[in-house]
Amino acid sequence: MTSMLTDLADGIRRLQKLNKDMSELELREEALNLRQLLVDAREALSAKDTEIQALKDKIDRIESGDACPLCRAGRLSITAINEHPVFGVFGHQEHTLKCSKCGHTETRKVDPK
Ligand SMILES: [Zn+2]
Repeated sequence: MTSMLTDLADGIRRLQKLNKDMSELELREEALNLRQLLVDAREALSAKDTEIQALKDKIDRIESGDACPLCRAGRLSITAINEHPVFGVFGHQEHTLKCSKCGHTETRKVDPK
């Protein structure tokens, strides 16, 4: 990406240095060269955007607390809600969660208030 920007800057610099001695053919070649560099830069940016979006989605999954702590690929969903065996007297619940990918299960104490 950095080298691509350097190429672009070089191309623009060459265009700025143009003098009247430069033939129309040379000008055209330079313009085509610059156009190709811009296309390449746009494709590279687009690829980076896709990569950034994928990473954002991954971060969202992990931060949401629904990501499986074991396989990191699946999501945990609640399969049962019961009275908590110890803190049930305070109105707390015990949620059982299961991973959609690896089948890992875990329980969480939840205060519904
Ligand atoms: Zn899992």
